[in-house]
Amino acid sequence: MEFCKTHLLKVQEENLYRKPVRYRFLDAVHVELEGKTYLSLSTNNYLGLTHSSAVQQAAIDAIFHYGTGSGGARLTTGSHPLYQELEEELAAFKKTEAAVVFNAGYMANVGVISALVGRGDIIFSDELNHASIIDGCCLSRAHRVVYRHGNIDDLAEKLKNTPCSGRRLIVTDGVFSMDGDIAPLNEIAALGETYEAMIMVDDAHAVGILGRGGCGTTDHFGLQGRIHIQMGTLSKSLASEGGYVAGSQVLIDYLINKARSFIFSTALSPATVGAAHGALLELQNHPELVETVLQNAQYVREALASAGVPVEGSITPILPIMVGEAARAVEMVALLKDEGLLVSAIRPPTVPSGSSRLRLTISAAHDRKELAKAVESIIAVSRRVKLSCKKDVKR
Ligand code: PMP
Repeated sequence: MEFCKTHLLKVQEENLYRKPVRYRFLDAVHVELEGKTYLSLSTNNYLGLTHSSAVQQAAIDAIFHYGTGSGGARLTTGSHPLYQELEEELAAFKKTEAAVVFNAGYMANVGVISALVGRGDIIFSDELNHASIIDGCCLSRAHRVVYRHGNIDDLAEKLKNTPCSGRRLIVTDGVFSMDGDIAPLNEIAALGETYEAMIMVDDAHAVGILGRGGCGTTDHFGLQGRIHIQMGTLSKSLASEGGYVAGSQVLIDYLINKARSFIFSTALSPATVGAAHGALLELQNHPELVETVLQNAQYVREALASAGVPVEGSITPILPIMVGEAARAVEMVALLKDEGLLVSAIRPPTVPSGSSRLRLTISAAHDRKELAKAVESIIAVSRRVKLSCKKDVKR
């Protein structure tokens, strides 16, 4: 196992060594770590629903009614009744004929892509797509053509110049997980129609954020009926875990019969499915949560930008602060921790070398006063490590 040691030494030298840290969430955005309380600015719990009493009760009720484990795969004995309720609700929410739940967003992407395309087919994939999409492409054995991030001209050229006698699939994140920007799905849809390609959007970070009532990127662009495969996760705004695909009935029936990550894995526990269902109902009963998270994100983005902090992204609650070198990102995380803030340093291989960043994620559960204090700390730390910041900005 010498090669493992060599690898670990190398990643340590490059400031890329990682290990899981044991956090205890006290509520949706406060964390206890080593006896101290921190404000988390790095949770994908965008709507704060992990600690909603209605969602927690839904999980508890599920355990009491159906037990702690599903005891089998979906196509054997694991499809407890909560699955049907959740899948019907997801299809209605996404305005599609049907939906099917997978055990993780990761498993949905690898299962769906490898079920839809194979040898002789071509996948056109944005260069910043999530790792689970990339892994799904590899597993499918289809030819993968990577187009420049969000670049419609490059995609058009690649579609035009890549002959294909098989199937074509264009796949993109709806909201990019490390950059927070939004895919030009309207233009992608038009190109897909021209080239008779299937279109798949990964809405992991778009549900609860974009579209009417937070139903995702397809609705944000008014593309109902034009996006064949709407994938998403239950692990972010929907406060649980698992993934899903929404689309036509024939697509869903096909995936149930073909996607190996669906077929060959034990179904999710009742508590997990119950919590996701509870969160989906909460989101629909409280559409104002979507407004709150967007307004909180706008507040932080504008405050940082006006101080010259290099914050990127779009209207979404993912705010990357571009730092560059991994060592500097790690240093900033440590300084922010001293200020009572938990922020993630995103480094290679998650992002390209030289584009390390702090990834702030804002939640509807954040309190404005705490956000204001956090913004002051981020500005001070940015200046301390000499990120290009304006000096005396009156705020
Ligand atoms: N797609 C995207 C864009 C993601 O960000 C993630 C998770 N970070 C996934 C898919 C995988 O989802 P899950 O965590 O539910 O496996």
